[in-house]
Amino acid sequence: MEKIIGIDLGTTNSVVAILEGGEPVIIPNSRGDRLTPSIVAFSDKREILVGQVAKNQIVINSERSVSSVKRHMGTDYKIKIGRKKYTPQEISSFILRKLKKDAEEYLQTPITKAVITVPAYFDDNQRQATKDAGKIAGLEVLRIINEPTAAALSYGLRHEENQIVIVLDLGGGTYDVSILELGDGVFEVRSTSGVNHLGGDDFDERIINYLADRFEEQEKIDLRQDRMALQKLKEEAEKAKIELSEATVATINIPFITADANGPKHLNIELSRTEFEGLIQDLINQMIPPIEKALEDASLSSAEINRVILAGGSTRIPAVREAFRSALDNEFYRKVNPDECVALGAAIQAGILGGDVRGVVLVDVTPLSLGIETEGGIFVPLINRNTTIPTASSKTFTTIADGQSVVEVHVLQGENPQADKNISLGKFQLGGIRSARKGDPHINVEFDIDVDGIVHVTAEDVDTGNQQTIRITNAMSYSSEEIERMVAEAELQIAQSEKYNELLVIKHDVEKLVKEVNQALEQGSSEIDKQMSEELTNALNDLQAALNVEDIEEIQFNQTALLAMYEELRKTLKNDSGAEVKVAGS
Ligand code: AMP
Repeated sequence: MEKIIGIDLGTTNSVVAILEGGEPVIIPNSRGDRLTPSIVAFSDKREILVGQVAKNQIVINSERSVSSVKRHMGTDYKIKIGRKKYTPQEISSFILRKLKKDAEEYLQTPITKAVITVPAYFDDNQRQATKDAGKIAGLEVLRIINEPTAAALSYGLRHEENQIVIVLDLGGGTYDVSILELGDGVFEVRSTSGVNHLGGDDFDERIINYLADRFEEQEKIDLRQDRMALQKLKEEAEKAKIELSEATVATINIPFITADANGPKHLNIELSRTEFEGLIQDLINQMIPPIEKALEDASLSSAEINRVILAGGSTRIPAVREAFRSALDNEFYRKVNPDECVALGAAIQAGILGGDVRGVVLVDVTPLSLGIETEGGIFVPLINRNTTIPTASSKTFTTIADGQSVVEVHVLQGENPQADKNISLGKFQLGGIRSARKGDPHINVEFDIDVDGIVHVTAEDVDTGNQQTIRITNAMSYSSEEIERMVAEAELQIAQSEKYNELLVIKHDVEKLVKEVNQALEQGSSEIDKQMSEELTNALNDLQAALNVEDIEEIQFNQTALLAMYEELRKTLKNDSGAEVKVAGS
């Protein structure tokens, strides 16, 4: 049976896990790290860097580096690198490809199937985009599961007793609250809530602005206008924030951050925990209403919660914990690692799908109401939020004019009675309606939400029985042809990147060899006959020509030829002088 991996595709870091011997375990990446930064960079030399290597070069190559792309998933945002524009799906696919490759190396087997987690509060566009990213990475995404649900799975597998748990998940970019009822192997989500764009990145942003403002007051230079300085600020702001989870004061020290006519400038600013808390207080305040909403939707009081589970790196911030504690009046369960529990839960879900975990049933819900726009821009929900998925609802449409052959339906997700205040999933058209008086045709449209939380729409002309599956026309969703094109492009780029890496290694060896041959030619000029000297010079020229055009086969061919000649030369020199000459690359 093929192994299925579980992936936590995070805003800041991504983690991959697998079920081994009935237990979920984290798969370390090629560096041996358990967390892989969700950063992709394109060097100006065609190389694609993912993870820590991309993070390491971000200050000097910020224009060609992409971080926190998850924040743009499900939007039509494009990332321009050089002349090429990438979608968030394509950038995410490079991260997924790296995780897949690391898993393949660790497990010593090809991997083609995965379970990927998303924030519970992700809408249909964002879920679809995540699934597409998986496809572009060459992964069959067997299931999309909600991050807090995954966290609860990793906690609950060892806890048999019936209980109600709340998962508070605050990562780099999103905030999710889920309430689950666990018991007898059933994990039932009672309600979910959250904020789509709220997390560690926003806290970093506040610190960056604080530091930039202070620096501007002192030096009259706005660091935000300088890409490299801003990137340095970003790194140090995040470090300071993490430090402030332990320490009460952090010192941000960035020598040579910029310069003016008077010389180099250094940034040295202290930030206390209290000051930091002041900077993010309004963001922390935003975290309480979703808890209240989730409790209300589950018809529970905070006293009925048996366990509070924290997921996501930002839940380590003391002020965040304090806010959670006062909202719930409950202690946290501390044996769950907030960085890893989501990936571990994804691996358990993979185990359930693969048949390795038995007796566990997961019942999840849709986070947002699904509905349509009706006359006057009014939103009419057809499936309410927190409905168990999969689920379906149908509605009959008719025409408003005689002979009307097309009806347009606008599908949305959200809770606002005003259609335009909700998230548009797109519009679709019911075509080919038979010619009839207005109000006569009956077209039954079924809206269903699958186990991944993804919306499908089918329609049937009740009178003729004609069935049609409708694709919602939406800038963010791709056809299988478009996905195939993106796969081909990504594979080509990766092949070029790998070829470039191979070229670098070969170049390194060749340059060493060329240097040695030149040295030998110089040192032994009196002992080397003219013909050998000419032959060597020609071979060196041929090799240089191949290097110039970066033709790997040609380089290797000429390298072998030069190496053979060099060995000849060594023998000659050794016979003449008795001295040993070391050969590079042999
Ligand atoms: P995640 O998406 O779960 O990987 O969470 C990443 C976010 O958590 C980033 O914004 C990190 O800066 C933040 N983070 C990680 N560790 C800490 C910490 N000890 N204190 C504060 N924030 C942290």
